[in-house]
This record gives sequence, C-alpha cells and structure tokens, in this order.
Amino acid sequence: MGSLLLPLPVLAIVLAALDSLLVRWALPWRASDVRLFFHAYFLWACFGLLALLPSGLTLRVLERCSRPWPARGADARPWIVLLGWMVLPVVAQATLDEHTSLIGLSGLTGARPWLELAGALAGGVVVLALLGRWLGAVSGARTAGIGVTLALAAGFFFPARPGRAVAAAPAARPNLLLLVWDTCRSDRLEPYGCARPTSPRLSELAAESLVFEDSLSASTFTFTSHLSLLTGVHPNTHGAQLLDMRFDPARATSIAEELAAAGYRTGGFVGTDVLSGRTGIQRGFEVYDDQVDPAVCDTFAWRFLHGLQALAAGALPTLRFNGQPHWIQDFQRPGSEVLARALAWIRRDDPRPWFCFVNLYDAHWPYLPEGEGRSRLVRPYDGPVDGFLFRSDRWQSGYRMSSADERHVSDLYEGELFDLDARVAGFLDALELERGGTAVLMTSDHGEGLGEGDSAEGGLWNHDDVREPQVRVPLVLRLPQPSPEGRRVRAPVSGVDVAPTLLALAGFEPGASTEGRNLLVDEPEAERERWVDDRDHLQPAEFRCALYRGAFKLVRTGIGPEARYELFDLAADPAATADVQREHPELLGELVARMEERSPAGAATTAPEHGWNPGAALQALGYAGE
Ligand SMILES: [Zn+2]
Repeated sequence: MGSLLLPLPVLAIVLAALDSLLVRWALPWRASDVRLFFHAYFLWACFGLLALLPSGLTLRVLERCSRPWPARGADARPWIVLLGWMVLPVVAQATLDEHTSLIGLSGLTGARPWLELAGALAGGVVVLALLGRWLGAVSGARTAGIGVTLALAAGFFFPARPGRAVAAAPAARPNLLLLVWDTCRSDRLEPYGCARPTSPRLSELAAESLVFEDSLSASTFTFTSHLSLLTGVHPNTHGAQLLDMRFDPARATSIAEELAAAGYRTGGFVGTDVLSGRTGIQRGFEVYDDQVDPAVCDTFAWRFLHGLQALAAGALPTLRFNGQPHWIQDFQRPGSEVLARALAWIRRDDPRPWFCFVNLYDAHWPYLPEGEGRSRLVRPYDGPVDGFLFRSDRWQSGYRMSSADERHVSDLYEGELFDLDARVAGFLDALELERGGTAVLMTSDHGEGLGEGDSAEGGLWNHDDVREPQVRVPLVLRLPQPSPEGRRVRAPVSGVDVAPTLLALAGFEPGASTEGRNLLVDEPEAERERWVDDRDHLQPAEFRCALYRGAFKLVRTGIGPEARYELFDLAADPAATADVQREHPELLGELVARMEERSPAGAATTAPEHGWNPGAALQALGYAGE
C-alpha cells in the first residue's frame, strides 16, 4: 500500500489537469479560472483514495504471479494499477451514460452499449499496458516530475479562445435587447389583462411600447422555441427537437451572426442548461454566458459522481432531492445573476452598438417565489401542495388537485412573475432607456398550463402540449426613441417575427429565408397562417402541431395513420376547449390539407444520433420523468 502513496497525488494532479483541459476545449466560450482545476483535483484525489484498497489487492495478486513485469527499470506497477482503478470506472460510466439519457436504464437493453463499454475498457487496458512499458523504462520520479509540470501548465494556462475579427463600427444604430421571460403565459401579466399586480415594471414598459395582443410562441419547448426567436424560422425548418438539441447552421441563420457581421457586439446570457452553448446556439455571440453551475460539473469526474448519485437515489428514494438526484448541480441559475452579468457586459467600454440576448428562467417550474412575490401574491393555504413537489417524481400518484390546490400553484407562479419583474426593473432602469438608442423586445418561449382542462384527467400542467395557455405569450416592443408612444396591436404575430423585426430595427433587411414578418412595417393580416410545432416528446405519437388561421385553430396529435385532428373556433371559444370539426367540414379539409402539405403526418421522425446528451439536465428541469 505504501508504494501507492506517491502515485496518488501525482495521478490526481495529472487527471485533474487533463479533465479541466477537456472542459475548456469543449466549451471555449466560457471564461474559466483555476477553481475548475482545484475542484477537479479534489474529486480525482477522492477517487484515488477510494482506489487504494482495490489497487493494493490487485498488486498483491500481481506479486504472486511471479513473472517480473515490467521487464526493466523502475517499478511502474503501483502507478499503472492505481491509474486503472481511478480511471476505468469513470470511462465505464461515461460510455454507458451516452445511452441512458431520457430513456433511463432501458437504454442499456441492447447489445451496443455493452460492446462500446467493452471496447472502451479494452482500449483503456491497452493504454495502461503501454504506459507501463514506457514508465518501466525510465525513472518513475523523473516521469512524475515532467508529468506534473506539464499537467499544471495545461491546467492553469490553457489559452483562451482567440478574439474574433471585429467589423468596422457602423453608423449610429440602436442597441438591441432581446429579453425572454421563460415560461411566461401572457394572461398572467398586467399588460395582458391580469387583474393581480404581477408585473408593475412591465406595465410601465408596455405603456411606451407596442403591445402585441395576439402573440404565439413558435414552439412549446425551450430550446426549439429560442432557436426560432433567434433565426426567424419554425422548428420544422431549423430541425431542432428534444432528442436532437442542436443548431444546424446549414438550415437557418441566427441574427447573432448577422448582427456580429454587421459590426454589432453580441452577447448571450442564459439561466438554463437547456440553452447551453454545446447545442450550437452560441453561434454568432462574441460572449455566451451559459455557465449555470460550477465549472467542475462539466468534468468527467463530476459526471461519474452524478451517475453514482443517480444509482444511489434509485435504490434509496430518500436520497432524492426534488425527485431527481442532482445535489450541487442545479442546471439553472437565478435571473438576478444572469442580469448582473448581462449588465456588466453592456457597460464594457466598447463603442460598437450591442445586441444582448437574455433568458430568465425564474418563472419556470419549480415555482418558489421568495421575496415580495410570496408575501403579495400567495394567499393563505394549508394543503399538501408546494411549488415543486406537485410535479416531481415524489408526488403522490392519483392525487386529485382541489381548486384550493390549483389556486395555490397559480399564486406561486404569479409570485415568481412578480419577483422576476422586480429583478428586471433594476436592470431596465440601469439601461436608461429614456436617453434613447436602445430597443427592448420582451417575449417568452412558451406559456404554462395551470390546471386548465379536464381535472378528472389531472388537468393541464406543464408546457408539453399546444393548448392556449401554453402558446399565448407576451410580445412587447419598445422602440429606441427617447420617449416612444405606446400602442396596442391586434394583428396576429409569432415568435418567428422576432428575428426579422430586430434586424429591421438595426437597419437591415430581413434575410430571404425568414418565415417571420418585420413587425415595424408589415402588420400581419388577420387571416395570416401561424404554426406552433411542439417537438417536446420522446414518442412520435405525442407530437403536436397547430395551425392558426383567422379565428380557427387546427391541432394535430401524433403522426402516421394514427394522427388525430381537432378544430377550434377561438372567436366563440377563446380557451379552445370544444372541437367543432363537425360544424366546419370544408374548413377542416382545407386546413388539414394545408398542414399535410407543410409537414406530412406520415413523415419519418426517427431521432437522429446526437452528440451532446442533455438527459440529466432535462430530467432535473422537469422535462421528462425516469
Ligand atoms: Zn422554456
């Protein structure tokens, strides 16, 4: 055992350096500091301590096999054996983790994960054997010295991403703020008729803005919807979906790229891991601030620990927190932090106009208002429901929410909106909009069900469908003039209109590929067709697509021969609860044909292979159960 005491700290240093190097390599847009290295070192040192006992036993067995190995030089065996026991479990976990994702352990049923695991472990053993030969040929102490020096150099001094070429600053153009309040249904905001005081600062902004009353999100899944906001095309066109959370630049162009090319400085600041730059959504942003958890959470060492947490919680439900084991790692961060970082970036000394994209995740489940939001908007309640339990895996199945329970959840949600509004107030005040030169477009990526629908079926919660509360979002546009006049606009608008409108504000023509409208000049006609694609499902039978035309809304559920259609008359039934397809057979045929033409129900929708596995984040954020 004593022969393992020198290798342990040395190997931990080398592995921590390698691990933090890989994090910086994979996420070059993130600022990083030496804390990443020290956190990773702590984890690897712990793994080393845990590996001492099996390593000692392995060495004893090797001694009994009397054949000398390695043949000459220093005794490399303790180094190699300890390295194997530290690294191979992490390799095994990382390999299998690629297959579990949202489908849980059932992803391990086929032969492929195990073949890959066997391949990875065999490769690891070969590398260890080669290392053993090499280490055996040279002095162990010298090798350790060189290894530690190189590792520390790599761990501390990995070069930052080279700066981008900066285009010449254009003539005076307005700054552009795209402010997305995640999970914000419009009817809970004062400018959209909410009677409770959920959003006083937004009301002030709305008083001097264009308020689009009839505004739909392009999707109900955070990533796909944000991609539509930034590209001006529907999910059907940009192609991103739950199992393929990836921005494919061959299919669409982000306004961040276009504005950067035109001389804007561009910054993205997000509150959720679902919008991680690993998806490619950071394209075009000079600064993309998506680090919602400590940097160490991206290392292989942490992923191994997270896997162990999940296994332990599977065996012992009391170890679950919020239904899922994700201690330390939260996959989201508060809006106050996001806004502070965005403001610091805006205030940088840089003469170029800026485009700043901000995602605030606070109103998303769980609903946990803290400050004034709780005291002002949450009425007395003494039932079993709290802001996250009711949607977590720990909730009692079969419990029927009473109207008091539903009101409480709704209060909590509104309390979150109030707290968020207060955070945004300080941020907007700091921008000094009254001086002119800055345009603000506030919207959301989707709404939220708060118990609507059939309570016998459990009511409508979440945002995994295309029902009215889930797709009606605010769209408030404050023009860059010092004191613009407010106006309410009834024309039908959509999330795909955001990108062309922001480009137009900057003085550029929207690209030919956009599927949205420039809302500054092109007020959409009442009969305009609008689409909502919901891609937030693992099963094709649950895919939804909605087509809005005039007062009518067609919904398709599922694809293939099983696809079902419903038709709603929003003029008579604004909540879209009663199917009227029998009363309007001709219109039904016309709209179904239109939908088929755009996205055939029989189209193949097999999930493609993907690089980044967002499973743990999506589960933690409530997108999928086990
Ligand atoms: Zn969202």
